Amino acid sequence: MSGIDHARRQILAWGAAMAGVTLAPGVTLFQLAQGRPPAEPASKAVRWGMLVDANRCASDCDACVTACDKENGLSGARTPTSAQWIRKVTLTDLRGGPAKSAPVMCQHCAEPPCVDVCPTGASFKRADGIVLVDRHTCIGCRYCVMACPYQARSFVHEPVTDQKPEVPRGKGCVESCTLCVHRIDRDRIPACVEACAATGHKAILFGNLNDPASEISQRIAQFPTTALRPDLRLDPSVRYQGL
Ligand code: SF4
Ligand code: SF4
Repeated sequence: MSGIDHARRQILAWGAAMAGVTLAPGVTLFQLAQGRPPAEPASKAVRWGMLVDANRCASDCDACVTACDKENGLSGARTPTSAQWIRKVTLTDLRGGPAKSAPVMCQHCAEPPCVDVCPTGASFKRADGIVLVDRHTCIGCRYCVMACPYQARSFVHEPVTDQKPEVPRGKGCVESCTLCVHRIDRDRIPACVEACAATGHKAILFGNLNDPASEISQRIAQFPTTALRPDLRLDPSVRYQGL
């Protein structure tokens, strides 16, 4: 059993139910952003995804946000222009049900409009469904920011300090949740998933949507789930339960 599978099973114990970036010589941003050697491409057999259970997400908890900031070298100090890859939102039930709290991040759309509009090819989708930005070729035009219906992308306005070696960032580029690709490629689950599990809420499940035997696939098959804005038909890899 891989580390991811092991962690996933632990997490599922919730009941039955470029510029300006300094790199080591010979290391490119693209290599780092992909998080795996080019000789080991992502596999089409896998489609990584997440299932967020809004019934388990506590309105007063933001452990996932804090963990994302720390893991990816983002500033936890929020300003109108600071980068944020995951945020807590309150979702209102238009039918009159109770409001729910849930994290929203890049939904890793199977039909991503951010990729469609990018004039340089900097926005791209890996074979395993993870949508990324190549900081080498991003020119900061922000077409993708406007195209994303989930407001998932941030433009880096200020010089970046304290960046993590495995998460290259740079002023003048656009960025968004990478699903912690640098961890996934090393058989680890995303930081937000790990942090949520550590709180005991266990509201975020990570796994392979292409594997019918995976916990996430079985849960999606067993319980009603939805995508955010399903009317847009973008086929996100992030699904929600309890909305
Ligand atoms: Fe692109 Fe936005 Fe979809 Fe992420 S959520 S893949 S940034 S359109
Ligand atoms: Fe592509 Fe960068 Fe422009 Fe976004 S800001 S559309 S990633 S070049």
